[in-house]
Amino acid sequence: MVSMEMYELGAKSSVIREIFEFGKKRAAEIGKENVYDYSLGNPSVPAPEKVNETIRKLTQELSPCELHGYTSAVGDNATRTAIAENLNARFGTNFTMNNLYMTCGAAASLCITFRALTEKDDEVIIFAPYFPEYKVFISAAGAKPVEVKCKAEDLTIDLEAFEKAITPNTKAVVLNSPNNPSGVVVSEEIVKGLCAILEKKQKEYGKSIFLVSDEPYRELVYGDVEVPYLTKYYDNTIVCYSFSKSLSLPGDRIGYILVPNEVENFELIYKSVCGAGRSLGYVCAPSMMQFVVRECVGMTGDISAYKMNRDILLEAFEECGFKTAKPDGAFYLFMKSPVDSAEEFCESAKKYDLLLVPSDSFGFPGYVRISYCVSTEMIERSLPKFKELAKEYNLI
Ligand code: PLP
Repeated sequence: MVSMEMYELGAKSSVIREIFEFGKKRAAEIGKENVYDYSLGNPSVPAPEKVNETIRKLTQELSPCELHGYTSAVGDNATRTAIAENLNARFGTNFTMNNLYMTCGAAASLCITFRALTEKDDEVIIFAPYFPEYKVFISAAGAKPVEVKCKAEDLTIDLEAFEKAITPNTKAVVLNSPNNPSGVVVSEEIVKGLCAILEKKQKEYGKSIFLVSDEPYRELVYGDVEVPYLTKYYDNTIVCYSFSKSLSLPGDRIGYILVPNEVENFELIYKSVCGAGRSLGYVCAPSMMQFVVRECVGMTGDISAYKMNRDILLEAFEECGFKTAKPDGAFYLFMKSPVDSAEEFCESAKKYDLLLVPSDSFGFPGYVRISYCVSTEMIERSLPKFKELAKEYNLI
């Protein structure tokens, strides 16, 4: 009849979407200004003005057929060259356009990468808390997601647990830093430890294990925080990037996959990426957005607004007695629920029209995610509500 697996995926909307829909319904009842929706990761900082300028310029300078036509499947050469040069200038790498494959954002980058790398029964390790779609993407490629929990005390990677989870079937490991949902940035020390384990296991099993760096939040860090560039630490690294967050363009679907020359069997891997993109029907990434990226790569919107939001919330949470993971990047706070059931806590928060996401779908129960990519003004209006919530739980 139909694929029941696909039916179930389509019929069951994500927890985050459900909360978002609830928020819209509630706003119709009591007014938008009285609902404090912290559910979605939609950037609240506008795209840099250069993005709009470039679009205007492109519409004037290029013929419609050039602007809206197909590019080659791997992407526009000048765009890929601009990205390679930008990365080389920032990270001292040596990439060229031939290391890059343009995609429709990080989701596509990940789906293509998993499809390219894995065969049936291969395992892909993900660290909990994780972006819930990883499990969908990995399973869609026919592989098996294997979860490794971060340390409860600080949500950093538990290297011992990681090493134990690697088996002869492990094909890849996904690292997401800065992290959605925790906001944690993986330190250089942990990166080095993780890569040393991978090197050891590659030797032990006589096979390649790939490190997939999912990094849509790379530029979204606050203060003096380094996000190590993983290709410099481990040869078999594949980078899945997106401009959704850095350029605030999530609806325009643009990103890339980077396969460094150092990857074992570069030709084989790069061509498999091309094949996976083809078999998944991507054809090419949006042309106009590729041309925009050619001009705007390396820029971000004014992310100082995110820092301000984070700092206001952190200060308020400290006063309220709420505990969060060290949030160095992305635009999420991961708050410990004062009771075991985060769902129960989120239901209580709803009474104050605070919409928070329980952490169960991130594979790490007992927390809530707060997306602070919202207006600072909404945050300020919501602070008395957080106080009331804290009082209900006798935290203040
Ligand atoms: N990976 C992570 C960790 C994310 O948080 C997201 C989106 O929120 C994605 C991938 C997908 O991003 P994109 O919009 O570029 O497909």
